[in-house]
Amino acid sequence: MSSIDPSPLQPAIERAEELESALAEIRDRVRRASSGTTPTLIAVSKYKPASDIMACYEQRHHDFGENYVQELVDKAAILPRDIRWHFIGALQSNKAKILASIPNLYCVQTLASAKTASALNKAIPEDRILRVLVQVNTSGEESKSGLPPLGPDTHVGTSELAQLVVHVVTKCPRLRFEGLMTIGALEQSLNASETEKNADFETLKETRDRLKEFLIDNAEQTGHSWGHEVSGKLILSMGMSGDFEAAIKAGSDIVRVGTGIFGQRPRKEVS
Ligand SMILES: *Cc1c(COP(=O)(O)O)cnc(C)c1O
Repeated sequence: MSSIDPSPLQPAIERAEELESALAEIRDRVRRASSGTTPTLIAVSKYKPASDIMACYEQRHHDFGENYVQELVDKAAILPRDIRWHFIGALQSNKAKILASIPNLYCVQTLASAKTASALNKAIPEDRILRVLVQVNTSGEESKSGLPPLGPDTHVGTSELAQLVVHVVTKCPRLRFEGLMTIGALEQSLNASETEKNADFETLKETRDRLKEFLIDNAEQTGHSWGHEVSGKLILSMGMSGDFEAAIKAGSDIVRVGTGIFGQRPRKEVS
């Protein structure tokens, strides 16, 4: 045995095998649940060591999600530069600068204020674009972040959501507004079945449709540089380990899977 510590990036063989098979299974389930374009699978690696991420990377997985700014900064510094980092945790404007300093930060999925949008826009280098999704609190739970959804009675133009999106598309040239993200209530994920729809996924879709109509109606002000950079669609990030198949069937473009790939996390948290 060598007395030198193994590299922090080198997974143990058994762990690498375990992750390889868990990732293969989730990828397969994602593919089988989708009709048409396969959604993006984000491996949510919060609290998991860099060596776990490396094991997935070696299976050609490049999209990873993290919830905490400092943890992401530390991991990004030692992991490969062609990883696409998706920030999915609560973000305060005072952390925007350090987050934006990560060269391969791909997307922030949890934008919820104009102040944070401006701070990110200011901190992103001129030659880069940062994709952003706005977080919507579809379940209205106090423990969850995000802006209220757009209902049939909402006046869209004065809603917090539309105002934030207008701010991003008119005042934040380095941000690209691509769509919406939700976490949703656990009960919805447990109760929804083949016959009963997940109310959070339906709410996010409706919100997206109303927002899209608003953006098109106000194109003179809001322009056309929003939506997914390739498809032009306003995309949806919804679905986690317990409900990603239902989310895909409901039309999700991005699913975020943590425990399904990496196993249980050491701590419980709310976001
Ligand atoms: C932790 C987390 C996930 C992954 O949750 P799992 O149930 O472990 O798949 C997805 N999205 C967000 C925003 C998270 O915080």
